[in-house]
Amino acid sequence: MAQHFLLSKDARGLSLKRIFGLSNPEALTLFREARWGKGRDPKCPSVNCGHVANHYFHDGRQRWRCNRCRRWFSVTSGTVFAYRKLPLQIYLAAMAIYTQHVKGIPALALCRKLDVQYKTAFVLAHKLRTALLAQRDDSPLEGDVELDGCYFNGYVKPANQKVNRRDRRLARNQNPKKSVIMVLRQRGGPKQGGQRTLTFSTRSENQSSVLKLVRKYIAAGSTVYADEHSAYDSLHTLFRTLRTNHSVQYSDENGIHTNTAEGFFSRLRRMQRGQCHHFNNNYIDLYANEAAYREDNRRRAMHTLFDDILTKCLETKPSRDLCGYWQHRGQLHRREQFV
Ligand SMILES: [Zn+2]
Repeated sequence: MAQHFLLSKDARGLSLKRIFGLSNPEALTLFREARWGKGRDPKCPSVNCGHVANHYFHDGRQRWRCNRCRRWFSVTSGTVFAYRKLPLQIYLAAMAIYTQHVKGIPALALCRKLDVQYKTAFVLAHKLRTALLAQRDDSPLEGDVELDGCYFNGYVKPANQKVNRRDRRLARNQNPKKSVIMVLRQRGGPKQGGQRTLTFSTRSENQSSVLKLVRKYIAAGSTVYADEHSAYDSLHTLFRTLRTNHSVQYSDENGIHTNTAEGFFSRLRRMQRGQCHHFNNNYIDLYANEAAYREDNRRRAMHTLFDDILTKCLETKPSRDLCGYWQHRGQLHRREQFV
């Protein structure tokens, strides 16, 4: 019998011992090769320059000085790790720990493992999530695509006394922070589960937001699978749409179901309840995309994933939200993410 992927060498080939044992030049080389390629000269990250050359390198400062514009830059300048204060090994270790955790890692656990402040770990984890979202492949899904929505942050605690309890089904008694994660999942081959996953946050599961999403992110000619919710009624005009009624059955004998999307929500819910405990609405799209990334790459080797996350971080521009997060009490520049 073939060995299960999770028991194979690829699923455990990322050693923290090795990362913490890296010397400063070794860590710098790892970053440098991930950013500019093996054996290539560094590229000035200044927007108006971008000069590639064998720039002067100052050993003590661990920085280059551009031959053309004379600006100093480090291996993380112009990336999501710009203005860093910690050694490179800490960032590598954070990425390794982040990669190894199947359902994500809370900032509190990360700060204990790295021996840094909670605030540092919080921003660092969010930088990794930001890079994953910024570098996501947004090209339209095709073939068999499942579509579904799931509510988060909508819990209303019932009052202690029965006479004080309100009807939580009524709109006026619902939690104003309630939001929806919509998922679009492209099915893989038989028994392969989801192949590509795109997530979006919306205020509510309605026809308007569903139409906006499917027009942009599902290719013409695809087959869409959805449940009985009225928000999906208009899909029939755009795609071949197959619906399942969950009050009758979850799946029929012809393979009409949305179980691939439901399975994603099951794991996202477990990530919220079991790991992160709280998804702030401002960052809920980051958490959802992290879960999607983990789902889509569940069968890739640990070191491949680590390299992928490192490359994505170095290709991502500094985040206005996260640079100086605790100095401006966060969220100052946060844009509305809802569809
Ligand atoms: Zn320059």
